Amino acid sequence: MINASEIRERARLARRLSSPCGLCPRRCRADRPAGEKGYCGAGPQPSVAAVLPHFGEEPPLSGNGGAGTIFFTRCNLRCVYCQNHQISQGRAGSAMPPESLARAMLELNAKGCANVEPVSPTHHLPGFLEALSTAVEQGLNVPVVYNTNGYETLDALELLDGIVDVYLPDLKYASDDAALRYSHVGDYVQTARAAILEMYSQVGNLVVDLQGRAMRGLIIRHLVLPEGISGSRETLFWIRDNFPTTVTVSLMAQYSPLNRAAEFPPLDRRLLAEEYEAAMDLSWDIGLENVFVQDLSSQETGIPDFERAGPFEWDGEQTQRQELDKADITTEKLPA
Ligand code: SF4
Repeated sequence: MINASEIRERARLARRLSSPCGLCPRRCRADRPAGEKGYCGAGPQPSVAAVLPHFGEEPPLSGNGGAGTIFFTRCNLRCVYCQNHQISQGRAGSAMPPESLARAMLELNAKGCANVEPVSPTHHLPGFLEALSTAVEQGLNVPVVYNTNGYETLDALELLDGIVDVYLPDLKYASDDAALRYSHVGDYVQTARAAILEMYSQVGNLVVDLQGRAMRGLIIRHLVLPEGISGSRETLFWIRDNFPTTVTVSLMAQYSPLNRAAEFPPLDRRLLAEEYEAAMDLSWDIGLENVFVQDLSSQETGIPDFERAGPFEWDGEQTQRQELDKADITTEKLPA
């Protein structure tokens, strides 16, 4: 990773990009440092709903100590089925100045987390980078995993080059009509695909250490939605045609009708086993070599409640486990 003073310089550039705001492809032009709010509703300082070791991520991200997740509030999409809607569209969470955020990162590191994983951080990018520069200065020594909905600008990604070790983007749709109807965004497909190509050019294939923890690389997440709404077939072919077949894909089964999904049939029902299996089989049939798959029980256990003290705990159990199907990750392994 680049050093703390260079990260601080990127934070300064990100602050400039937020006034008027063009941090994300919405380009609302709100004067964020002055307190104006754009589509995402984020304020001038970071706001966070939960900081915790998360054991339900893909195995190389969870490691033995959990992924060091930091759930930022608000979002630049309004997915009608969002499973984190309490924080992305609701009121959960509170302001966390960069100094506190830096302390939180160092605490996750000290607890043995495999990484720090900001979840939906881009609309809080200046404060996140300021916090990261302080944490790095004070000894943060785990990879940064950037968990994003994929709707990113190349400008923001350029600021992250050399800082982010592992990109974890969603690729939600293959049709802008679907993206508009279900996530209120009209140019998702081309924008997210361009962003993911840029991410890959920065970090390449997934690389794990001898303990199997992700050190660098890209994992593309795709949530399979009922009746083909997410365009799984076209998405998987696009991935196959634009990346080496060794690229890592996480095919998610955990869809559950939350938030306003009841108003948008067929999103008002759970994903069927045969719908998920069709996507899974296709990924293998077309030659993708590294595909994480999820058990359908994740529809019950993978849903956080951010109004509880432990959003990912149910009767003492952790959230869903994902398993790497097929062989092991066929990427380079680094020494521990
Ligand atoms: S980050 Fe928020 S305010 Fe900035 S352009 Fe995106 S939606 Fe608008």
